[in-house]
Amino acid sequence: MAKNKGPRTVQCYHCRHRFEVGGRAQSTSCPGCNKPLIVEDLVFDTKRSGIGRIKVQTCGTITVKKGGRVTAELVEAHGGVVCLGTIEAKKVISGRTLVLGKASLFYGALQAPAVDMAAGARVKPSLFEVPSDPLGLGDLEEN
Ligand SMILES: [Zn+2]
Repeated sequence: MAKNKGPRTVQCYHCRHRFEVGGRAQSTSCPGCNKPLIVEDLVFDTKRSGIGRIKVQTCGTITVKKGGRVTAELVEAHGGVVCLGTIEAKKVISGRTLVLGKASLFYGALQAPAVDMAAGARVKPSLFEVPSDPLGLGDLEEN
């Protein structure tokens, strides 16, 4: 991921309000709905799992490393989802291409503009809506 330290435009995952945040911001609150908002890139490895969370959401990216695991009702990353471990969710929204690594395991109803799936990636029966951009994030500039 290119590191862009300049301000960038994000879209609130609560109310869809768009506003600018500093390039180093990790979290903020939305000026539209005043709810807390995570804008940093989230990484889940064997030490930091997302098991049992109801929602895992960020305006940045979500990376599940090899051996890492996220189990949640909703996984939403406006910057895209990279899964090298396990994601089990009711619904996954990836604002960019979903990347599934060769040893990954994926389960969930997916909405993403594209999928990049390595040989060996395992997908349990899941509803894929691809290409899909339900939040209209395609016009947000790439960070
Ligand atoms: Zn909001």
